[in-house]
Amino acid sequence: MMDRPLMIADILKHAAQNHGKREIVSRMPDTGQIHRYGYADCHERSQRLANALTGPLKVKAGDRITTIAWNTHRHLELYYAVSGVGAVVHTANPRMGPEQLAWVINHAKAKHVFFDVTFAPLVDAIAAHCKTVKSWVVMTSPATRPEMKTKTQVYETLLENASPVYDWPSFDENAAAGLCYTSGTTGEPKGALYSHRSTVLHAMACLAEDVIGVGSRGVIMPVVPMFHVNAWGVPYAAAMGGAKLVMPGAQLDGASLQGLIESETVNQVLGVPTVWLGLLQYLRESGKRIDSVENVLMGGSAMPEALLRAYQDEYGVDMQQGWGMTEMSPLGTVGKLLPKHDGLSDDEKIKIKLKQGRLLFGVEMRSVDDDGNVLPRDGQSSGHIQVRGPWIIESYFRGAGPEAFTDDGWFRTGDVGYLDEDGYMTITDRSKDVIKSGGEWISSIDLENAAMGHPDVLMAAAVGMPHPKWQERPLLIIQPRPNTTPTADSIREYLAERVPKWWLPEGIEFIEEMPLGATGKILKTKLREMFKDYQFP
Ligand code: ADP
Repeated sequence: MMDRPLMIADILKHAAQNHGKREIVSRMPDTGQIHRYGYADCHERSQRLANALTGPLKVKAGDRITTIAWNTHRHLELYYAVSGVGAVVHTANPRMGPEQLAWVINHAKAKHVFFDVTFAPLVDAIAAHCKTVKSWVVMTSPATRPEMKTKTQVYETLLENASPVYDWPSFDENAAAGLCYTSGTTGEPKGALYSHRSTVLHAMACLAEDVIGVGSRGVIMPVVPMFHVNAWGVPYAAAMGGAKLVMPGAQLDGASLQGLIESETVNQVLGVPTVWLGLLQYLRESGKRIDSVENVLMGGSAMPEALLRAYQDEYGVDMQQGWGMTEMSPLGTVGKLLPKHDGLSDDEKIKIKLKQGRLLFGVEMRSVDDDGNVLPRDGQSSGHIQVRGPWIIESYFRGAGPEAFTDDGWFRTGDVGYLDEDGYMTITDRSKDVIKSGGEWISSIDLENAAMGHPDVLMAAAVGMPHPKWQERPLLIIQPRPNTTPTADSIREYLAERVPKWWLPEGIEFIEEMPLGATGKILKTKLREMFKDYQFP
């Protein structure tokens, strides 16, 4: 067989040649307008960008180029051009906040930073602290260039002055192509450095029907940002499979998403639960619908049962749950049903959908006990989840966190859960979040999920608090739905019918707004801090 390297630029070349007119539609953060063009145009502009990078910006193989940007066609061009010239696209998460953002840019030793106009104030706040950065490029045209303290170059001017022809080089497929830092939900950010090979293989896996199923009939909208683990691989998979790609830009509120879904007849959407909660609230209030949507892939944190039922019963939308991590490119499991489940009742099917999903080819998984013994795949023996595979990191960027890797070549995910004989995995907790009551584990995910079924609960988080008799007991913290005032008693009564008696929270507290992290997940570290002096009644 021919030994041809797996190259990211070849994905776009393929798209330009074979579905060049298939559209990429973006809502632009600079003009507020909808921009549309085809994969062939994207290829031409990516070649211009490649020439701008290797010419005036003097980018060399291995250099890190940071993006602080929303999902748009320009960000897509950066994905392909930066990796295509042999450099590394570092997608920084603007929600990290200025200090952490400057920290990751410095840690990555970024040479240039490309950013959307939205982030001009953020760039002004951090630029002086980013010593390695040679230029700041604002992703817009001269007409919409923002007033800034920082000296900037303009994206469209760079492209205009560059040649539209660039011969993508071929090189070692194991060369670095992308860099993404974990959002630091559980500690200091650590970098995952993706290669051309890992990225291409992961994108190919996404095409499979039982994974995301990206093909020429797809009109796919990644609501998950391109700074959150490469928008779960969609920017690569869509170009590979020939799907129309719909990029929502900076507007991720319910009304904007619904509008775009309707006008572009989007049939596949992907994102974290908080986004789907927001959209659901808007749909209910406005009476609008999302009838073109066939399926939603939800990941990043556990899928709330109430949400799954609402989309299914009220809007006829099929929801699947995916599980993965920054360190895994990110996909590890996706929860589609098997033929043997066809005859099951709705409730039984929902039980299966609430598992984190089935392993996809390319990811091997084992669950081990505290002593490292591999546990049986019996659908109940819960332990530490470890994984290995060609799109899972072998080490963190620049050697951080060596303790995450076992001596025999597995990555410790930090998640606790079990596998069953069909390859479905269920997570009960992150190891840092487990609640151990009298020596037994209470699943905070199950407890939260049950609480979120209560009609007045918008978000729920369970954290373990010290207890004199049981070592730890659960404290349930709730953000009520707008205009409701649920009582602790009504919640306890509701839960009593749904979880084992000994899981019932020792305390229930209400807060106005849940603290969310940079990827839209509830920040339990922050909650523990807020409630550090809490005493159970
Ligand atoms: P961070 O949370 O630090 O931003 P990631 O976005 O990489 O980092 O998150 C990975 C973690 O998110 C997983 O280890 C797991 O704990 C959690 N997670 C992801 N998907 C799911 C899911 N479907 N159900 C439960 N937890 C999930």
